[in-house]
Amino acid sequence: MKKLIIAIDGPAGAGKSTVGRQLARELGYTYIDTGAMYRALAWKALQSGIPLDDEARLTRLAETSRITLTGRPDALRVFIDGEDVTEAIRTLRVGEAASRISAIPGVRRAMVAEQRRIGRRGGVVMEGRDIGTRVFPDADVKFYLDADLEVRARRRWEEERARGRRVSLEEARREIQARDARDRERRDSPLRRAEDAIHIDSSTRTVQEVVNQMLAFIHQKN
Ligand code: C5P
Repeated sequence: MKKLIIAIDGPAGAGKSTVGRQLARELGYTYIDTGAMYRALAWKALQSGIPLDDEARLTRLAETSRITLTGRPDALRVFIDGEDVTEAIRTLRVGEAASRISAIPGVRRAMVAEQRRIGRRGGVVMEGRDIGTRVFPDADVKFYLDADLEVRARRRWEEERARGRRVSLEEARREIQARDARDRERRDSPLRRAEDAIHIDSSTRTVQEVVNQMLAFIHQKN
């Protein structure tokens, strides 16, 4: 069977990572979490004290940092310049910083080039905000995964609590709303559904139901 490029885009908390991982596992594909790449870079910017609006320095940082994703879909580890940041990048602060630096065209250019290099041979499930619109406009199958704001906020809140962090549901909702607004309104590659993407709402579906629906579309193609 042909090794496909499968794109999953959508807003924060829509379930892209959970579903993407499971889908990659069932297909025996590589799972690429592009948000983790922006997060790793944001983490390094915060560590280095680079102001998040310093476009020139952040662009240089993106061009010179080596970000690697390794391991199976359900045990993915994220490294930047050899340092394991898998856990460190999963905070609201890093998510917010990632969304700010990802609006910078030079940062996106470097990340997109790397994502194309990783995915070009196919056999990948790649998830993010611009995979079907910019990174791989010719992807074999494109999904746009969405869910109601309340459902997405609750998922994010539960994730934070599972990590032992004390965040209110209201804070989680505000964080998601602010990030979505920024991701949708930026000039370079704003979050939007590609015209040929299959829209799936995960609000009332289980992970396995969404994965099965995706597999049905993929098997039509392959
Ligand atoms: O997916 P995740 O929430 O981890 O992504 C963090 C941030 O990285 C997003 O809010 C978005 O601003 C940015 N991002 C992006 N393009 C992608 C993936 C993520 O701009 N392909």
